[in-house]
Amino acid sequence: MEKNSRIFVAGHRGLVGSAICRRLRQEGFDNLVSRELQELDLRDQASTRRFFAEEKPEYVVLAAAKVGGILANTTYPADFIYDNLVIETNVIDAAARAGVRKLLFLGSSCIYPKLAPQPMREEALLTGPLEPTNEWYAIAKIAGIKLAQAYRAQHGLNAISLMPTNLYGPGDNFDLASSHVLPALIRKTHEALRAGAPEITVWGSGTPRREFLHVDDLADAAVFLMLAYDSGEIINVGTGIDVTIRELAEMIGHAAGYTGSIAFDSSKPDGTPRKLLDVSRLTALGWKPKIALADGIAETWRWYIENVAARG
Ligand code: GDP
Repeated sequence: MEKNSRIFVAGHRGLVGSAICRRLRQEGFDNLVSRELQELDLRDQASTRRFFAEEKPEYVVLAAAKVGGILANTTYPADFIYDNLVIETNVIDAAARAGVRKLLFLGSSCIYPKLAPQPMREEALLTGPLEPTNEWYAIAKIAGIKLAQAYRAQHGLNAISLMPTNLYGPGDNFDLASSHVLPALIRKTHEALRAGAPEITVWGSGTPRREFLHVDDLADAAVFLMLAYDSGEIINVGTGIDVTIRELAEMIGHAAGYTGSIAFDSSKPDGTPRKLLDVSRLTALGWKPKIALADGIAETWRWYIENVAARG
């Protein structure tokens, strides 16, 4: 990838896509081609093909996806499987037809079996049943991995697939009905502080363990792997460290200066008991994350206060 290469970041408005665009520009890759959703809906095959034929991107980062937390996944299963399948199919096929030099596909750690041995190695893929609360999304992402591998095998498309752990950071979705846990708890903590409420309510038991990676670290890894990794084998991207949901709530309370207590709503699902990635394949290549969870939470808290809470 050269500094003037034409790079298409699909999903450039999202948490991940916007972070990857920032990182690429920081590294001097500033020939980015992008389209607003009104102009290019990647669920539409004809316009996706037309876009690739006209713009001729040389490199593609596929960060466009329908994403959401545990409740959104169980409420909109059709959207999660359909949108993700069709976006991946259209983009990977169009990229191969247009002779793209390299494509980076973003999967998710939820592709691994619910009870995969922890930490989860790349080899755990397709070795057991999935966690039911996000199997629709997971199946679509597994299909994306297989599409990338099939197009590599049959058409020589240099497609690589990254499996990021749970991501967070500035620009995340803070809507309580559709967000992931970290932004949800930032919002709940802020609302409790503002209302002088004595407690915040956390879904489930607080015992599930999750691994959180700052989106700027993910973006750094994505650019690193665009430059340094050319294998069809999937590669995990995470920190190798996890915390319980209770610990996460306490860390957010600490960053916010909130001294109330934590209540648990057992009517809400826990999801998978633990989701920790084995990141040895990535660390062996010489990459490691830079942003500690406590620092990332403090930064995201400030971003929320200045950009979301300030707007009412
Ligand atoms: P997951 O990693 O796919 O399960 O997605 P989430 O980030 O949505 O949820 C992670 C864990 O946090 C689950 O055990 C949730 O029950 C728990 N959790 C606790 N409070 C909340 C909340 O307010 N919102 C969300 N989305 N999850 C929460």
